[in-house]
Amino acid sequence: MEREVRVRFAPSPTGPLHIGGVRTALYNFLLARKLGGKMLLRIEDTDQNRFVPGAEQYIMDALRWCGIVIDEGIEEGGPHAPYRQSERKPMYRQYAQQLIESGHAYYAFDTPEELDAMRARLTAAKVPNPQYNSITRTQMRNSLTLPEDEVKQLLDNEAPYVIRLKVPRKEEIRFNDLIRGWVVVHSSAVDDKVLMKSDGMPTYHLANIVDDHLMEITHVIRGEEWLPSAPLHVLLYRYLGWEATMPQFAHLPLLLKPDGTGKLSKRDGDKLGFPVFPLEWHGTDAESGQPTVSSGYRESGYLPEAFINFLAFLGWNPGTQQELFTMDELIENFSIERVSKSPARFDQNKVRWYNEQYLRAKPDTELAGYLLESLQAQGISCPTDKAEQIAALVKERATFPADLAREAQLFFHRPTSYDEQVISKKWNAQVAGALAAYAQELPSAADTSPEGLKALLTQVVESQGMKIGQVLQVLRVAVTGITAGPDLMAVMSILGAQETAERIEAAVSQLVAS
Ligand code: GLU
Repeated sequence: MEREVRVRFAPSPTGPLHIGGVRTALYNFLLARKLGGKMLLRIEDTDQNRFVPGAEQYIMDALRWCGIVIDEGIEEGGPHAPYRQSERKPMYRQYAQQLIESGHAYYAFDTPEELDAMRARLTAAKVPNPQYNSITRTQMRNSLTLPEDEVKQLLDNEAPYVIRLKVPRKEEIRFNDLIRGWVVVHSSAVDDKVLMKSDGMPTYHLANIVDDHLMEITHVIRGEEWLPSAPLHVLLYRYLGWEATMPQFAHLPLLLKPDGTGKLSKRDGDKLGFPVFPLEWHGTDAESGQPTVSSGYRESGYLPEAFINFLAFLGWNPGTQQELFTMDELIENFSIERVSKSPARFDQNKVRWYNEQYLRAKPDTELAGYLLESLQAQGISCPTDKAEQIAALVKERATFPADLAREAQLFFHRPTSYDEQVISKKWNAQVAGALAAYAQELPSAADTSPEGLKALLTQVVESQGMKIGQVLQVLRVAVTGITAGPDLMAVMSILGAQETAERIEAAVSQLVAS
C-alpha cells in the first residue's frame, strides 16, 4: 500500500525564521498539498542553550502570514503529539539504549579537558579535521576501551557521560537525494556524533531521526546545510532497523547574497537594505544586550502572495515562461524534480517586481482601502469613490500599499512651489495667456472626463494660435507643482474642473508676480 505523504518543517526556535527557512517550509507545504499529504510543524528545541523566547510564536505567525497551512503541530495537535521535542524528552532514551545494546553506540566518559587535549594532540600531529571517530575513539575513555566492570561502576556512580554513535571505519554510505541524485560518503568522513548529551537530552540527530520515524515522515526536505548530516542519519535509520521506511531526502540549494558572494545570512538584511525575515523581529543584541529590531517583509509593505511567489522561484521554476503563480497554482505545478541543485541568488529587484504585480492586480476597492487607511492616519478625509479613482490611477506608480498615499498627496495639497526648470524654459506670456483662458473655461465645462478636459484644452490652446504640446508640461507643473506624475488629464478630472481652474489661476498669478 502506498504510504500517505507526510512532510515536516522542523525549525529550531533559535531566533526569527530566515527567508531560507520560509522557502524550506514552502516547498514542504507545496509537496504535501500536491501529493494530498500532510504538513507537520515540529519544534526542535532540544538545545536549550540556544532557545530564544518568542521565536516559536514568531515561526507560527510567519507561516500563517505566508499562507503555509500546518496540518499537525503544537497548535493544531495531531496523532503524534506532542510536536515540541522538549516535551518528548522521555521518548528518546530507549532508542539510544537500543543502539548501545545492538553495538552501534557507546558511552563516552571523556571530560571537556580530555576532549580538548585530544584535539590539541591531533592538531599538533597536523590532522586537518580533528574528530572523535573510529580511530580516535580507541584512545579515549569510553565503553569500547574501558573494561566492562569499570564502565558499570562509572554508570552506577552516575559519572557524567554522553552516548555516541559507533560509526564504522570503512564503509560507503549512500542514499538517493531527490535533488542531487546519489550521494556517496565514506564513513571515515563521519565522526562519532553525540546522540545523547550528559544532561539526558537527545541531540538534534537522534531526536530528529526518532521523530521522523515515529511521525511517519515520508520526505525530508531541508536546506543544503543539513546534507553533511544525512549520511549519519542514514546510519541511524539502518541501526535502528527502520531502513525500510526511511524518508526520501531532498536537500535544497543555498540562498546566496545578491552579489553571489556566499550564503544570505540573518545579518545581511538590514545591512544590504532589504528584509531577510518575513515579519519584523524584536530581538536582543547578543553582545550589548540592547534591544534590536530587524525589518520584515510584512511591515515593509510586501503582500504575502508576492513574497511566496518570489520565494518559490528561488530554487524552483515551472519550466515555462509563466512567472506569476498563486499558491494553488504553485501547488499544482510544483515538483521536486524541478528544484535546482545550484544555489539561488537573492534578487531584491525581483521581489519588488512581484509585489508591484500583485498590488496592481488587486481590485480598486481593495487598493482604495489601503489608501484610505494611510490618508486617515494623516488626518486627510476622502470619499470612498474618489479614493477608488485615485487608487486606480496611481497604482501603476506604486510598489507598496503605502506608495498609494504618497502618490495621492497631490490630490489633497495644492502646490506650494513650481518646478523651476520647466518654468524657466517653458513659461512665457503666451503660455500664461492660454492657461488663464483655459482656467476661465473650465468651471463651465460640460464634459469633465479626461477626454473632455483634453478636448477643451486643445480647443482653447488652438484658438490662441498655439499647439497643445507647448503648454502641457507647464499645465502639469501649474496643477501639481512637479513634472512627474500620473496621467494629467485623469488627475484634473479627479480634482474636478473647479479645483483645477483655481490651481491654474493661482499658478498664473504667482508666476506672473515673481
Ligand atoms: N532543526 C533543524 C533546523 O533547525 C532541522 C533540520 C532538518 O530538517 O532535519 O533546521
